[in-house]
Amino acid sequence: MQITQIESIPVRVPINQARAIRGGRGVHNVSPFVLVRIHTDEGLIGLGEVSCTPNWSGEDQVTAVHVIETYLAPQLIGADPTQVERLSTKMARVLAGNVFTKAGIEMALWDLVGKVAGLPLYRLFGGAVRDFVPTKFSISGLEPARAAEIAVWAVEQGFRTMKVKVGIEPEQDVARVRAVREAIGPNIRLGIDANGGWAPRVAIQTIRRICDYGIYFAEQPVAPLDLTWMADVRRQVPVPVMADESLYTIQDAMGIARAGAADILSIYVGKGGGLSAGRKVAALAEAAGLTCTVGSNLELGVASAAMIHLAMASSGIGAEEFPCDILGPFFYEADLLAEPLPISAGSARPLERPGLGVELDEERVAHYRV
Ligand SMILES: [Mg+2]
Repeated sequence: MQITQIESIPVRVPINQARAIRGGRGVHNVSPFVLVRIHTDEGLIGLGEVSCTPNWSGEDQVTAVHVIETYLAPQLIGADPTQVERLSTKMARVLAGNVFTKAGIEMALWDLVGKVAGLPLYRLFGGAVRDFVPTKFSISGLEPARAAEIAVWAVEQGFRTMKVKVGIEPEQDVARVRAVREAIGPNIRLGIDANGGWAPRVAIQTIRRICDYGIYFAEQPVAPLDLTWMADVRRQVPVPVMADESLYTIQDAMGIARAGAADILSIYVGKGGGLSAGRKVAALAEAAGLTCTVGSNLELGVASAAMIHLAMASSGIGAEEFPCDILGPFFYEADLLAEPLPISAGSARPLERPGLGVELDEERVAHYRV
């Protein structure tokens, strides 16, 4: 089988502005994503999604389409799409960075592998280690009363775990977590995500205060500048620390483990350049005695499916203790899939079809195409 064409489709699906995420790195209120279709000479088509945002990876839909057409497609046209590892190495050699774009291509290659094998990806990856993927909700860094309202809404939807965005201003951060805890009661698991917004001393002081409100993890308390910062914070707070912005590549994961900078690693399909990199990070975490969750860039359906397969099949992802952020359907005004993923409040399941198991709704893709 040979790749004959790589199609890039820029889309922009509006985010429900009532729940748009504000955090320590600004606001995520628009998703300039790209859908990828890899065509083959045997008629099979692989689907991928480049879930890129400028303030995460420095990519957007203009750069993604340019990079695919100029650098990546010429490496892939004519190649056997089932040689995922080999083609990923080729992509890494021809172009530095642009990991979310590479991940969108790699996702489409894996979709083709699954379709050739006739197996859902999680089964190709070794089979399910769980019956479903536990998920949590993410509360925007809004004023306390508004954050508490959203938290109550999330509990009403059925979420039993959530995290609150902090790292914006310490007094407001403490007040927001307190308001959320008072609104949801003692039985909902609560974490915080500072998105690197605190200096180390502020992080230590503020996390200790927030611990009064029953949080059980602190995500990316300090900026991803120097791992010794996060290692210092980790030693001086009573809850596990999660690395998100500090972790892109498998090499980053090794550095975090060696520095003792985190207890939990937040894997994205995009950050290391694809599903394979995510699986390698999960394996490294397992070897280092750490655990992982799956974090989110508010993916649409195609990439959400990839996240679900990854979490379903990875023993290094401790989704029961640290539920994953597979949340797209709760944030967008529409999805682009012909059949929605079985995602509900607190759980996500794969579709039991080969590859990613998803198909696009062509009318909706045309409607949201940029
Ligand atoms: Mg995060």
